[in-house]
Amino acid sequence: MNIHEYQAKALLRDYGAPVSDGRVVLKADEAKTAAGELDGPLWVVKAQIHAGGRGKGHFKEADAGEKGGVRLAKSVEEAEAMAKQMLGRTLVTHQTGPEGKQVGRIYIEDGSGIERELYLALLVDRQTSRISFVCSTEGGMDIEEVAAATPEKILSFSVDPATGYQPFHGRRIAFMLGLEGKQVKQCVNLMGILYRAFVEKDMEMLEINPLIVTDGGELKCLDAKLGFDGNALYRHADIAALRDETEEDPKELAASRYDLNYIALDGEIGCMVNGAGLAMATMDIIKLYGAEPANFLDVGGGATKEKVTEAFKIITSDANVKGILVNIFGGIMRCDVIAEGVIAAVREVGLKVPLVVRLEGTNVDKGKAIINESGLDVIAADDLSDAAQKIVKAVKG
Ligand code: GDP
Ligand code: MN
Repeated sequence: MNIHEYQAKALLRDYGAPVSDGRVVLKADEAKTAAGELDGPLWVVKAQIHAGGRGKGHFKEADAGEKGGVRLAKSVEEAEAMAKQMLGRTLVTHQTGPEGKQVGRIYIEDGSGIERELYLALLVDRQTSRISFVCSTEGGMDIEEVAAATPEKILSFSVDPATGYQPFHGRRIAFMLGLEGKQVKQCVNLMGILYRAFVEKDMEMLEINPLIVTDGGELKCLDAKLGFDGNALYRHADIAALRDETEEDPKELAASRYDLNYIALDGEIGCMVNGAGLAMATMDIIKLYGAEPANFLDVGGGATKEKVTEAFKIITSDANVKGILVNIFGGIMRCDVIAEGVIAAVREVGLKVPLVVRLEGTNVDKGKAIINESGLDVIAADDLSDAAQKIVKAVKG
């Protein structure tokens, strides 16, 4: 789960990390008062969306002004005008895709004078099964670009969980970043704070881009992007409360309400499968036969007819879906339950695209009979590759 920059900064501030003072506003007429509570003489007006690259982004609407989603204001009035321009408008960045994201919240921050922009991230490194630091002198830029063009400018190392964070980790980063004097001590302290926050809050990702050296020579987190492990949210009610549902894919949101393991992708073949492994294999085999999956979906072992119906509705609500593949190996899950769910859903939402069903396992005959007697236009398949070939053929001709 991701949260907004202003929420991330509030959390990091509580841990003792240096961030600017700021106010979040939901309505344009709150902007002037909010900005007035900050010192100035520079204000930063920042669109809050769950995507990076806001500074270099652009708005779809012509009246949102020329510049991106992060703007510098020289007066309270200017800050107010900028907030007005951005609120409710659609910001497009390289991370939002061409459809962009609607801006519902604005963060107004006390502006900082910048001497240097650095990059810092913490993430779960699956290769080493450890938490890794990533840092670079090339902050404020696309880190993927830096990694591709000048990998020597990136330092990455993992932390042994047996020792946890140690001051030498922080000094290593400070040295790489070319920090001097009191900044080294600040860096050692800040990295310890970030590491502790990361572990305690079960984060997946923490990115500070840029981490800056201010014109006064102090380290400060100027941007903050935090991602949390969804499977650990049950023990962080404070983090779960920060969820902004308007930022989420409506299909994934609906799926989470029904406790379905669904991830939206951008292919053309919708998949309904039971079991994560079989779902992965189904996606692979669709690709093998030349098409792309529209989603990952594991309906789980104990799915009810209602759950299957909802799952089917979510798949058909995706406009990219040109065909659906139902692939069920009934172990705990019974094939007749799946069949009933599919039919109930089709009755409710209709079937506008080809549907291939492969059922195997518990109550398979009962399941097949239900589908055959339904009068639905279903293409039956015997095994995994038969099913994949049939749906790809039905979609691609
Ligand atoms: P992003 O584009 O979504 O990553 O948003 P950031 O929060 O990283 O802001 C983008 C850029 O705006 C930064 O890299 C800075 O160059 C600039 N910026 C942000 N805050 C300030 C500030 O307080 N003062 C100044 N001078 N520039 C800022
Ligand atoms: Mn940034």
